[in-house]
Amino acid sequence: MADVDIAIIGGGLNGASVARDAAGRGLRVALFEQNDLGSGGTAAAPHLMHGNFIDLERGNALRVRAALAERDIALRIAPHLVRPARFVLPVHSEERPPAMLRGGLFVYSLLAARSPLPRSEVLDLTIDEAGHSLKRSLGLALAYSDCTVDETRLVVLNAADAAARGAAIRTGARCVWAERSGTWRLAVVNRGRRETVTARALVNASGAWARQVAETVLHLPAVQASFVKVSQIVVRRMFDGDNVYVLQNDDRRMVYAIPYHRDFTLIGTSERSFAGDPAMASASADDIAYLCAAASRYFRVRIEGADVMHAMAGCDATGHRNGIVKRDRKSGKAPLLTMIGGATTTARRRAEIALAQLASFFELPPSRTASEPLPGGDFGWDTFGDQVDTARQRWTFLSERHAQRLIASYGTRIERILGAAKSMDDLGPRFGDDLTGVEVRYLMTEEFARFADDIVWRRSKLGLTMSRQDREALETFMATA
Ligand SMILES: Cc1cc2nc3c(=O)[nH]c(=O)nc-3n(C[C@H](O)[C@H](O)[C@H](O)COP(=O)(O)OP(=O)(O)OC[C@H]3O[C@@H](n4cnc5c(N)ncnc54)[C@H](O)[C@@H]3O)c2cc1C
Repeated sequence: MADVDIAIIGGGLNGASVARDAAGRGLRVALFEQNDLGSGGTAAAPHLMHGNFIDLERGNALRVRAALAERDIALRIAPHLVRPARFVLPVHSEERPPAMLRGGLFVYSLLAARSPLPRSEVLDLTIDEAGHSLKRSLGLALAYSDCTVDETRLVVLNAADAAARGAAIRTGARCVWAERSGTWRLAVVNRGRRETVTARALVNASGAWARQVAETVLHLPAVQASFVKVSQIVVRRMFDGDNVYVLQNDDRRMVYAIPYHRDFTLIGTSERSFAGDPAMASASADDIAYLCAAASRYFRVRIEGADVMHAMAGCDATGHRNGIVKRDRKSGKAPLLTMIGGATTTARRRAEIALAQLASFFELPPSRTASEPLPGGDFGWDTFGDQVDTARQRWTFLSERHAQRLIASYGTRIERILGAAKSMDDLGPRFGDDLTGVEVRYLMTEEFARFADDIVWRRSKLGLTMSRQDREALETFMATA
């Protein structure tokens, strides 16, 4: 008998979503990620969990409707990570005609008619607070509801939930070779040790590495997919309030300016063709200049390269917002599923579609990923503020800011981190702003963190405010914890 039913190569959003769904349906799952969970392309995705309003321009109303439905599911199952926001799109006739945008918004609102989020409206930027940080020449804006998400935490919580349902999640585990017969036999270099695992089915969810994995690991023809490099920048907060700004750029692309981890603004995205090693993708001076110019066109504060505190880049599949989910049917041989790309918002649904392709192979009960919350997500999406207040009543030493961060990251699992603590001193050593020893230990035991970067860039974005000394102290603590 094979060691597991499904082996998954790749711990990005696609791999982790399949792992959660499959483990939840009783399959024995092993996921192998060569670095850290969410450290591939997913780390550079732009924090949006949305219907993608501008997709209507391309005539994709059905896809927008499906994404809006998935967005609302995500809000219910992960109300800590997925947060509703007012998206503000300044209207001006240099780009799309205002009447066209209003028509689009009318359709978007119809497609979101069942959503519990506030309805769309037209804003007068000369009086609405959304206009305070924008240039005076902008008169009107359309405002609609959508959501933001922390993608890397979404990956980690999918993996944690899969593990809670019996999946083996291996980070630092690179799949180097595979042989296919009635089962798959995989060689994995796991933290320097080589091990062999057998699986009844294999999922190649290695993102921009999928071609390379197909050719060099699976010894199969290269996967037909092309990739673009997507970049984003982080600057000091450019505006007050929680609005997400949707900026029409002069190349017809939309650039988003998103409130980011309390004191920052995330600006994305720029796209460029890219053919090299995905691990080497980085934001170029041109990418940074493009994003600074797009934001400076709208905001009163001008930004330039020197203002950029952090930049991310990753590779995303082009032309496949639905993603590629393909089963290779070789008679008599163990099945292979390839999953590439697709929107963040629909990753949960994509995992269902992927597993449906294995329905003739495994007996599968229905998926429950749409109704069961992710770890810590067992509270109502509109009670986020109540969760913060309750936490501050229980742990009276928490500042509002600290409690907000902990609820946004862990939801009701805050209990497992803070437990019986009575003061900050009970939380162990402090690293930088408000990261403490108990949180670090929780991340190491429950969320697969091994190194400081796993914590400060993927399980949080505290790297934006931590000093080098803080990070070194954290690395030392983790090495001995
Ligand atoms: C840069 C970027 C921008 C995006 N922008 C948007 C957007 O604007 N809107 C939207 O809705 N969606 C967007 N998406 C899509 C969305 O985020 C994807 O659904 C998600 O990123 C899926 O990524 P993945 O799991 O396929 O790939 P990845 O996150 O790249 O994961 C693949 C993993 O496989 C691992 N791996 C590779 N080879 C091996 C091996 N041999 N052994 C073990 N592990 C291996 C890699 O280390 C990597 O972590 C974007 C995605 C990217 C990458």
